Amino acid sequence: MHPHSKKILFLNPAKNDSFAVDRIHMGFTLMGQILSEAGHQVKVLDYAFLRGLNLPIEIPSVKEVINKFKPDVIGVSVFTYLYDESNSLIDEISELSDAPIVLGGPHITLFPEDFNSDTRVSYLVRGEAEGVILDLVENAGKKNTPVIVQGSVPSGDDIPAVNLDIAYGGNYLKNYQIQLSRGCPYSCNFCNVELIAGGRKVRARNLDSCIEQITEAKRKYPDLQTVFITDDCPNFDRERFKNFLVKFAERKTGCNLHIDNVRADLVDEEMLQLYIKAGGLNICLGTESGHPDVFKQVNKGESLDEVLAAISLVKKYNLTLGLCFVIGLPDDNFKKHMHSIALAKIVKPDYVFWNMCTPWPGTPVYKWFKQHGTVGDVRGFSTLVDPEFNFTLPRAWSDDFDREDRVRAWLIANLETYAFPVNSIRRFFSNAVKLTHLANKYKIYKAVITYLVCFVPHYFKKAIKKRIKYVFGLQKGSI
Ligand code: SF4
Repeated sequence: MHPHSKKILFLNPAKNDSFAVDRIHMGFTLMGQILSEAGHQVKVLDYAFLRGLNLPIEIPSVKEVINKFKPDVIGVSVFTYLYDESNSLIDEISELSDAPIVLGGPHITLFPEDFNSDTRVSYLVRGEAEGVILDLVENAGKKNTPVIVQGSVPSGDDIPAVNLDIAYGGNYLKNYQIQLSRGCPYSCNFCNVELIAGGRKVRARNLDSCIEQITEAKRKYPDLQTVFITDDCPNFDRERFKNFLVKFAERKTGCNLHIDNVRADLVDEEMLQLYIKAGGLNICLGTESGHPDVFKQVNKGESLDEVLAAISLVKKYNLTLGLCFVIGLPDDNFKKHMHSIALAKIVKPDYVFWNMCTPWPGTPVYKWFKQHGTVGDVRGFSTLVDPEFNFTLPRAWSDDFDREDRVRAWLIANLETYAFPVNSIRRFFSNAVKLTHLANKYKIYKAVITYLVCFVPHYFKKAIKKRIKYVFGLQKGSI
């Protein structure tokens, strides 16, 4: 043990909603690896992940962990949608411990002013923390007001392996996350990746060491089933990505692959064939809007036709198709949004995300809303309606697409495309009463009735299709 070894506790709160989180906070497992390697003791408690496990295991409270572990430094990551939960957690920690509190995460990068005179907090880390965390922890002391630490932009080689040994509940994990690269070279008008990742430069990691890390994780944790690729833009270089797929398939880890986001114009048949051979399950495409004018404004650097072509290819290969839309982008309105719903209904994706547009400061969308509408407080706002139809009101709206119409558009989209997971049939009945109330409030009778009448047949059709697909291996290339 390091003679000046410190104890570091990383905490992430759970959101008070009905989403199930199936992954551990990745940033903490990366920071934890850097600190563990330097001889420090690290514990990660991600309450969102632990709640999502839904297992009869005892989850220690913050008080129990602090009293037992007696950390020298406590880190909390703040996401904007978890703003209230993070604030309560910081309150609780500061009453239980005198250890310096370090805050990081996207919210601190985008809104440092929220905590820069907070007497509960000693450090605020803005940007990526890999390059600064060790020095910060080793020299950390209690401060009256927070010291702002500017993170550096690590190269691909500076990004370590995730460390699951330090994460509470890590041995129950089924999904292993990895970034093959960080950053994105594109400039979609609503996206804040450029602001969080310190620019548009992509940092590619060494693929051989990524494969080694996955193999090692599977050796240590044989229950891992799926490798989640969580890059901002994993196929930014399509030949490199194909190279990864070949290497991954050759390694025969026994894990499947899942990709969070894929760029449509960089998908081709060879990539999908290699992806299937590597155990790839899904492709999720950023579709944003089904209306050509709204789509054009996004500045994605690709066309709606290219997205449609990628959708056809994904369907041709029977991969699980996910689509990701944004409601209420610049120049969108209720009528134009119906094009997105129509597209989703024609394409019939296996899953779909309907994100409410959120104007992040520093993005072109933020400027647009300032000129053409109203921007409210985005703190605590979740961009998705949850599987029990809970949501908070949109935080930005425009003259052409007011707040109420945005909610109607959001609900209709989720209802008419059965956006929630097929295993939610139990919820179907408990949601019925809530939906009746929402139908009255937002005058969405047709969508609610259609949903209530058609959900059960839809559920069984989808469940049967899923079973046939995976039991009989109907993905092309896997036959
Ligand atoms: S391609 Fe994705 S990550 Fe890149 S700017 Fe667009 S939305 Fe953001």
